[in-house]
Amino acid sequence: MHAFRNIAQASLELPPYLVVLRGGNAQGKTNFLEAIYLAARGVSPRTQRDAELVSWGSDSASIEMRVDSGGIWFDREVRIQPGRKKVWLTNGHPKRGRGRQEEVWLVGYFPGDISIIEGPPVERRRFIDEAVSYIQPAYNAHVKRYERTLTRRNILLRERAADDLVSVYTEELINTGKHIIQGRIRYGELLTPFLRDFYLRLGGENMHFGVQYSGGGYELRGELEDNLRKAFRCMEKEERAREMTLVGPHRDDIIFTLEEKDFRVYGSQGEKKSLALALKMSEMQVIRKLKNTEVIVLLDDLFSELDPGRRHLLFKEVLGTGQVFITVTDEVPPMPEGWEKYTVLGVQGGTVKKA
Ligand code: ATP
Ligand code: MG
Repeated sequence: MHAFRNIAQASLELPPYLVVLRGGNAQGKTNFLEAIYLAARGVSPRTQRDAELVSWGSDSASIEMRVDSGGIWFDREVRIQPGRKKVWLTNGHPKRGRGRQEEVWLVGYFPGDISIIEGPPVERRRFIDEAVSYIQPAYNAHVKRYERTLTRRNILLRERAADDLVSVYTEELINTGKHIIQGRIRYGELLTPFLRDFYLRLGGENMHFGVQYSGGGYELRGELEDNLRKAFRCMEKEERAREMTLVGPHRDDIIFTLEEKDFRVYGSQGEKKSLALALKMSEMQVIRKLKNTEVIVLLDDLFSELDPGRRHLLFKEVLGTGQVFITVTDEVPPMPEGWEKYTVLGVQGGTVKKA
């Protein structure tokens, strides 16, 4: 990689087991994992502004990654130039749609992921939309189309366009929105059993843990299309007054509850962090189940915070999934059984090399 955040240059070959990134604060550990995540999934785990990723004083950044995915080698390349669209290539070709054979399966937990639990609804929608798009390319197309239509419709409402014109976009929103809502609900059904199981093992056994999809202004039970159309009719006056679209999946939310109480309101920091981690681990399990493949796992800033019991639990969960990356600021703590073999990379001032 080249000129990626504070990493001027790094070139490494990594073993297919545990990789420990060791270095003090602000040396580049998270940056290194961010680059891997970006090359694998096409989005940064912590920012939507590509320009932030380029080293200060440089005009472009690049990442090249060679990956063995289920016995097939392929190359990934990312080039970032502020002001231009990011280039993301697989074996030299732009990734149009997300091809099944040429996917790098990877999940990552980063400290900022706690915002999925405690942040505004948009954080949870972004998480689920990205997770579903990753395993289901057609879903991503619906999301893109929905966003374009929504923008158009909001402009029409602001311009006080005629009802006939607005209703064309309303129908389009209903049609694409339906796929998004169904995709999210289906994904939730796959994810929830893993989530419940892992969270309860990590934290409070014998607790009642719930996940609920909440529709933005429309009824979820029954015929979705009819319900959306009905909600649009009910909101017509208000939409005209506020000049924006008030019904649809762009206003939905996912609600996590513990003992029937909203996590976002009542959860402690520790509980929220555990739930964010459980989400990412469940995402991994869903990929393993659906794609029948190994998954690369990135765990940033987590290891040192966990007590030995939870550490053991976490490592049991990721054992046998494939390559695992963790970060530590100090000495590598005693590793759980099965994890005695690892490579340490020293990270200092943006330099990453085998220790
Ligand atoms: P911690 O243990 O505190 O999490 P870290 O090793 O994970 O530390 P990073 O988040 O990787 O640290 O950040 C390392 C440094 O990179 C920070 O000091 C940050 O200011 C710097 N940095 C971030 N973006 C850029 C950029 N675009 N160009 C240059 N440096 C950057
Ligand atoms: Mg960090």
